[in-house]
Amino acid sequence: MTDAEIGIEGPGREVPGPALRIIPLGGLGEIGLNMMCLEYGDAIIVVDCGLMFPEDYMLGIDIVIPDITYLKRNREKVKAFFITHGHEDHTGALPFVLREIDAPIYATALTIGLIEEKLIEFGLAKSTVFQTVRPRDVVSIGPFDVEFIRVCHSIADGCALAISTPLGVVVHTGDFKLDQTPVDGEVLDYARFSEYGEKGVLALMSDSTNVEKEGYTLSEKEIGYNLEEIFRRCEGRIIVAAFSSNIHRVQQVFDAAVKFGRKVVLNGKSMLANVRIARTLGYLKAPDGLIADLKELDSLPHHRVVLLTTGSQGEPMSALTRMAMDNHKQLKVERGDTVILSSKFIPGHEKAIATMMNHRGPGTSYRCTGS
Ligand SMILES: [Zn+2]
Repeated sequence: MTDAEIGIEGPGREVPGPALRIIPLGGLGEIGLNMMCLEYGDAIIVVDCGLMFPEDYMLGIDIVIPDITYLKRNREKVKAFFITHGHEDHTGALPFVLREIDAPIYATALTIGLIEEKLIEFGLAKSTVFQTVRPRDVVSIGPFDVEFIRVCHSIADGCALAISTPLGVVVHTGDFKLDQTPVDGEVLDYARFSEYGEKGVLALMSDSTNVEKEGYTLSEKEIGYNLEEIFRRCEGRIIVAAFSSNIHRVQQVFDAAVKFGRKVVLNGKSMLANVRIARTLGYLKAPDGLIADLKELDSLPHHRVVLLTTGSQGEPMSALTRMAMDNHKQLKVERGDTVILSSKFIPGHEKAIATMMNHRGPGTSYRCTGS
């Protein structure tokens, strides 16, 4: 049990009965480790199961996962995992937690696709029960009715959850962004949120990343225009570094490449995997012949190439950093290349990004798309 346990007694409840317990095992006041349990009577459901990448002082630590002692002690009560979206800070602890806790995973198709890929790596995919849901589906488990509600985020297919319990509705937003012009047209489902609001909500658990910043986040479509502007002016190779999970951004890079007659070469393990999964599930559209193999790179004229890679945060082992530092077996950032860093800089990574950029040779330029 963590000291952050919250017990909610129903207002005006007449008959004694179980309390609803909302138990955050991670993700409150920190970026990463998102994991929240809801317990009522003899049933527990778990919302998200994320990891955190270690802080600088955690020497020798590869990843951090939530403390699941409470779940292990109440193993038989755990009925299901509900995953809001496919980011690692919401899914990355699953390979470790599923070894201890056996329960099905409910999520949308892309989220399941990304989780499955990870579990295959750990040899756990076959023993895991996946239940694919769509927005507005309601899953009933014990005393909980869980509705998935569409939200926009920097990964496709994200959802919030409205969890109806005998004591009232708990709304868990997952991560979200208010984008009126998302690339896939899947706008946040304002109607469902309003309906729950009208009926009354017992507790709202909301993502609050960046709330202290004034103003609006750029719409994903705006980033597409910025990308096109940069593409229009480039004569040499274009190297775009982005988060491989940001399928909408990948789509916009594909669209810009089509528009300016360039072929896309993918680089980085997660970029290759995520593009494959998203294309298979229909979340990413690429015309035949757009994607070229790394082996073809040398035979393509520079003004016909976009290299789409991981490593936008200057991570020392990432593909882009190794290319920039002349440490990559096949690739190198060369004179005439334009490198576009197409993601926000995660706080704490600025030094690594600057080190990578400062290593550039003459005739290489770095650009950013703004988010
Ligand atoms: Zn997220």
